[in-house]
Amino acid sequence: MFWEETFETLPRDQLRSLQSERLKDTLARAAAAPYYRRMYQESGVALDRINGLSDLNRLPFTTKQDLRAGYPFEFLAVDREAVVRLHSSSGTTGQATVVCHNAHDLASWANLMARCMFMTGARPADVFQNMTGYGMFTGGLGFHYGAERLGMLTVPAGAGNSRRQIKFMQDFGATIVHVIPSYALHLLSVFEEAGVDPRRDLRLRIAYLGAEPYSEQTRRRVEEGLGAKVFNSYGLSEMSGPGVAFECPEQNGMHIWEDAFVVEVLNPTTLEPVPEGEEGELVLTSLDREAMPLIRYRTRDLTAILPGPCPCGRTHRRIARIKGRSDDMFIVKGVNVFPLQVETLLMSVPEVGRNYQIILDNEGSLDSMTVQVEVQREFFHGDVKSLKALQQRITTALKGELLFTPKVALVEPDAIPKSDGKAVRVIDRRRKE
Ligand code: ADP
Ligand code: ZN
Repeated sequence: MFWEETFETLPRDQLRSLQSERLKDTLARAAAAPYYRRMYQESGVALDRINGLSDLNRLPFTTKQDLRAGYPFEFLAVDREAVVRLHSSSGTTGQATVVCHNAHDLASWANLMARCMFMTGARPADVFQNMTGYGMFTGGLGFHYGAERLGMLTVPAGAGNSRRQIKFMQDFGATIVHVIPSYALHLLSVFEEAGVDPRRDLRLRIAYLGAEPYSEQTRRRVEEGLGAKVFNSYGLSEMSGPGVAFECPEQNGMHIWEDAFVVEVLNPTTLEPVPEGEEGELVLTSLDREAMPLIRYRTRDLTAILPGPCPCGRTHRRIARIKGRSDDMFIVKGVNVFPLQVETLLMSVPEVGRNYQIILDNEGSLDSMTVQVEVQREFFHGDVKSLKALQQRITTALKGELLFTPKVALVEPDAIPKSDGKAVRVIDRRRKE
């Protein structure tokens, strides 16, 4: 049932002592990195006076900007020669940042990933097809080495080339896949075109979906389409990659591994902790990384700590589905909008297909938002009246959610350009004054 029962079920007080101990080690290590050495000198933090978790809030934050300023090796806390791999974030929100690992870091990361997958029921007899990009994107190698560590037959299919993916799944008998949510939806269309019914022709039982925000509605669609159970997977390059938080079979949020990370959820404006159950920004401190420890890293991801113990017996706290990054939010007509709000609504409409995109523009001085929505093929080529009615229905529903009226453009399946990696949900064409 457990990959590492002792660690996964450690009583909370022992977990806290372990965190305190590891935090002190981590701080001592971080002080060897040029960036932190400077930062602690400048901010006058005496590291030897930090006695563990209770002093955490005296430490300055580390931000994405800091990582950029320290690009590429200023955060390195070990000799360059000890580094065995380098990863870089996808650069979704600007210049990429670099994360370095020594052999210990890679081994712990693989172990955490194995822990996550074992928790969902993955076993050595499984055939695991990894359908995300390899290379700099951490989802590829992160899952790959975790799956091998667990002992699964691991198929490094990589991203894209959907027909080949399907053939591999059939030929090698894939039982578990890892796939980005937007690509999972796309894959369902390719199955249809190829005349392959996953429930009939494949042996899939589990799919791991993560790396970008997605709704419960999308989860249900993918589960139905693939005939597999979908588990939510969360991570970020700065904290190695996937393996930070993962759903257990209870699927009541994601356990965040507190023996490897100190977890804070803070009000993004005041930077004070928010009460359990309330949404805030996730701030993480690595506890088991040697080459490049990060202290109080502001992820910008919005989530909440969920109250109460989990019936599965794991003592590590759970976080809610990630709503998005604070910078995913855009403002139209004075209203704050997250793409996930739009997705949740669209994916609950049965006629809606598998992709959508939000286009922001300004006509004169007024902002406008157009939501392009792919609709099911039969429906798109059906009668004009029902298409018009559907457009009206979606517009009204969106207005109910957003409190302003967006434009809704229904388009054919595959009309919206598809990326192999993370989906581009928003195109902002507004001219800034
Ligand atoms: P980039 O920051 O360039 O996108 P990463 O590959 O490191 O590069 O992406 C990590 C980010 O992806 C997280 O900070 C988060 O915003 C998003 N993410 C990862 N997993 C999930 C998930 N399960 N749900 C929602 N968002 C996720
Ligand atoms: Zn659990």
